[in-house]
Amino acid sequence: MSALLRVEGVVRSYRLPRTRLFGPAPVLRAVDGVSFTVAAGETLAVVGESGCGKSTLARLVMALDRPDQGRVLLEGTDLAQLSERALRPLRRRFQIVFQDPMGSLNPRLPVHRIVGETLATLAKPPGRVERRARIASALESVGLAASDAARYPHEFSGGQRQRIAIARALVTEPELIVADEPVSALDLSVQAQVLNLLVELQQRRGLAYLFISHNLAVVRHLARRTAVMYAGRFVETGPTAALFREPLHPYTRTLLAAVPRLDGVRHRLPVVEPLAPRASGGCAFVDRCPLRQPHCAVVEPTLTAVAEDRAVACHLVQPPPTPL
Ligand code: ADP
Ligand code: MG
Repeated sequence: MSALLRVEGVVRSYRLPRTRLFGPAPVLRAVDGVSFTVAAGETLAVVGESGCGKSTLARLVMALDRPDQGRVLLEGTDLAQLSERALRPLRRRFQIVFQDPMGSLNPRLPVHRIVGETLATLAKPPGRVERRARIASALESVGLAASDAARYPHEFSGGQRQRIAIARALVTEPELIVADEPVSALDLSVQAQVLNLLVELQQRRGLAYLFISHNLAVVRHLARRTAVMYAGRFVETGPTAALFREPLHPYTRTLLAAVPRLDGVRHRLPVVEPLAPRASGGCAFVDRCPLRQPHCAVVEPTLTAVAEDRAVACHLVQPPPTPL
């Protein structure tokens, strides 16, 4: 299957404030060697707790930020190598929806300016009449009215504001949408409506999603494949159903143990301290791992295929013996 998006070994480090007067500034590898593919029309979920590097990864995929290492290929073209100018004609094809629908919509602009914003970035921006028609059609496709174009963000509820953000992403007819915790700021009842809308839009338009969430329960029925992220790395990847049925990495098990029951008890992952810059070597999860062995603190596990379409980075999960 050819990939719409192929991310290869991306690394993004941040230099942190010096903790000691002398000596080098510590470096945090917020995204630390992540690889994956997303096929056209498919959803890949990335799940992990706050601070694990999800939004940094989203910005790299969106070419809003550049990796220190690695490649971000859109149908074979490495976005990380392109100038802003060269990126421009490609930007139509991938869009983002952020978590906070209030913070991401300029309160001083009417909806048509917000939704039309991305149209202005097109290589050939449409004229007035077509622009109006496309904004109206984007609003209608997210369940709003064409007449909402003249209103302002504060006149809408949280769920409606997120619909405006989705309309803004849709208006350029992208092939890929990066959804960075798109429902995390919404009430539970509204979350389901917005998730249903995303699924419906995918079915109608063949959209691919990179769907980012701190909540494993949210992605269960949304994504065929899931990647579990911890401390800047993918620690387990596989079909979502298989991950739920048989989680392999101790961290995935921790996440699953915290998944709410079907009665909809609201759940958030525990918020951990921001990552301390890690000395090299050893598993990043070792301090929290109930199953740790002495060598886990010394030898870093790599993401290794353990079955068809499943990979895990844990010394305790051995790959099956190769048949003779
Ligand atoms: P998530 O979206 O999973 O909550 P982020 O990608 O926002 O995680 O952040 C990952 C880590 O990188 C965090 O420890 C965060 O503090 C750090 N970080 C993110 N952006 C910056 C930045 N611009 N400068 C320094 N550190 C950053
Ligand atoms: Mg984030």
